[in-house]
Amino acid sequence: MRVFSGSLATETNTFAPMPTGLGSFRDRGYFAAGRHPDHMTLFSGPLWAARLRGRKDGWTLHEGMVAGAQPSGITTRHAYETLRDELLADLKKAMPVDMVLLGLHGAMVADGYDDCEGDLLQRVRAIVGPDVVVGAELDPHNHLTPLMTSCADVLVCFKEYPHTDVLERAVELVDLCAATVEKKIRPVAAVVDCDMITLVHTSRQPARGFVDRMQSLEGKDGILSVSLTHGFPRGDVPEMGTKVWCIPTATRPRRTSWRGNWPTN
Ligand SMILES: [Zn+2]
Repeated sequence: MRVFSGSLATETNTFAPMPTGLGSFRDRGYFAAGRHPDHMTLFSGPLWAARLRGRKDGWTLHEGMVAGAQPSGITTRHAYETLRDELLADLKKAMPVDMVLLGLHGAMVADGYDDCEGDLLQRVRAIVGPDVVVGAELDPHNHLTPLMTSCADVLVCFKEYPHTDVLERAVELVDLCAATVEKKIRPVAAVVDCDMITLVHTSRQPARGFVDRMQSLEGKDGILSVSLTHGFPRGDVPEMGTKVWCIPTATRPRRTSWRGNWPTN
């Protein structure tokens, strides 16, 4: 199995006056391709999980850039395009691959880009084509968009806030993507926009029970994964809000997956 993994992540408060520049990524955590240290960082869960699984199963893992910035104001166009293009260049060098695993946030906004993750996933899909499996781990304080879901095969959110389950969810993402490559499963998904915003700690009720309920549904009746987007109200973008998505395995060929599953009203 030939696997590519990398990361580009920050959480953008569009109301904050301080722009997020390249220096913000270099201060918080920037690792060029192949330079990621021997420990997991907040948004390198997929890369770390791929290292663990890859060692066991003999995968060829191509490690691309990993970059994350402290949450702050809108990312500059220069910073976003520079880091995005570095990650995409790393992917092009690694081609051909069977699987792409990304560590993203989901609420990154840059000058000229309301949906950085959608833009990035769309460009990844354009490079790898329709048959390579593309998966990403997201922070639940994301703005899940139709562009993101139409360009990825599997998206898995951290379930816990505070975010204590980065590795567990990354392992699930890697396992689901690998099983998709091996044609053991065919992930599809349905997204429900809850028309609400909720920021809840999952260490106490009512969110604790909701997370437990999501996990109780997984692994039964063909349900592969259930995720909750809390939403991020400090991001003033059209897709902000709470969403729930469920990934069952399909009985029909995949790649119809996420498309057309959004409510039309
Ligand atoms: Zn978060």
